[in-house]
Amino acid sequence: MRVAIIGGGIIGLGIADALLRETRVRDSLELTIFDAHEPGGASAKAAGILGAQFESHESSPFVTDLVEARASFERWLVDFGGPSALERVDYRKAGVLRLATSARRAEELRAIVEWQSASGLRAAYVSPWELEKIEPALASFAHGAAHFPDDAQVEPRLLLALLETSLRERGAMFVDSRVLAVESAPSAATIRVEVGASPRESRPAESATHSADFVVVANGAWASRLTLTAGKTALPLDAPPVRGQMIRLATARRHFGPVIEVDGTYALQRAQGPIDVGATVENVGFDAGTTADAAAALLRTVTRMIPEIDGAPIAEQWAGLRPLAPSPRVELVDSRVLVAVGHYRNGILLAPTTARKAAAIVARL
Ligand SMILES: Cc1cc2nc3c(=O)[nH]c(=O)nc-3n(C[C@H](O)[C@H](O)[C@H](O)COP(=O)(O)OP(=O)(O)OC[C@H]3O[C@@H](n4cnc5c(N)ncnc54)[C@H](O)[C@@H]3O)c2cc1C
Repeated sequence: MRVAIIGGGIIGLGIADALLRETRVRDSLELTIFDAHEPGGASAKAAGILGAQFESHESSPFVTDLVEARASFERWLVDFGGPSALERVDYRKAGVLRLATSARRAEELRAIVEWQSASGLRAAYVSPWELEKIEPALASFAHGAAHFPDDAQVEPRLLLALLETSLRERGAMFVDSRVLAVESAPSAATIRVEVGASPRESRPAESATHSADFVVVANGAWASRLTLTAGKTALPLDAPPVRGQMIRLATARRHFGPVIEVDGTYALQRAQGPIDVGATVENVGFDAGTTADAAAALLRTVTRMIPEIDGAPIAEQWAGLRPLAPSPRVELVDSRVLVAVGHYRNGILLAPTTARKAAAIVARL
């Protein structure tokens, strides 16, 4: 079976891995992954918080999906990357601390801790005094914090690189091109791919076509830009972009262990030292640029949380486009086309479970 995957972010690569692992399809599989290398591609720009509880503000069925994904993450990493994978992608179950900056916020966090504990999840509300013992580097302004010890973190760039290497070793083909259109027909799907575009010489793009038995659309926030048709019927997709900007501070000294969050801004310290701080939430269309005001706001909050890093140089600033949807969409839209888009703030965390779900659908065809 010739399968074309459109999009080489974590969702497309995760599905490629699951298909290569799926016993009912893997022996006949010819896998091609098309990627346009959009500068705003979300996966390499993410923080990598596996924040099943961090992201759960109220009880809902989605919480179960997030917790299930978090539980399967370690096994998933080892399955494609071997026993050293956890270290190689800087996977750590270091937990999350959400700080309360007011009495009202403290009450909100207490309520979250209460329903999560009642659902059988480990969560605790810690006093300012206990907080100081857990993380001495934190400023003393907090009224207390919610502690989610089972949330974890990973470095998304390392994760993507390891997954891509593993897929190449197992025979997946990578094509660095933008797919313009997919047309599903009874005999096969036709994929129209942009070739020869050169913005520098203002040379217009031409196109070439590929044929596949099955297509997976996993192109994140660019879903609406793909023309998808089955016969004469258009199959509209939409997962509009929501920009997130982050900054990286250079430091070699270890300052803190868990993810620290206050009022929507969070900080993570990587194994090698750098501290990543994010993230803005902006509706600016497909603009993946960075801005001075975002850097200033992130910097202000992080130095307020952890005063001792004041003065650390900004090593990097970047932006990615999250694919927005009320909940992720992983389903067949035609007998030859599966879509896996709309993972919004949780695509890194949900990658293993989305991949398994998608591969199971393909195996049942
Ligand atoms: C700042 C920020 C912080 C985040 N933090 C977290 C976090 O801590 N934890 C978490 O779980 N999630 C986080 N997310 C969300 C997460 O990054 C996304 O949900 C996830 O990466 C979506 O993956 P994707 O593969 O669907 O999309 P993407 O990673 O955007 O991949 C889509 C790919 O499709 C390609 N493409 C687009 N159009 C075409 C085309 N026509 N033809 C070929 N290729 C095409 C693009 O080049 C891109 O590589 C964060 C996101 C941002 C921006």
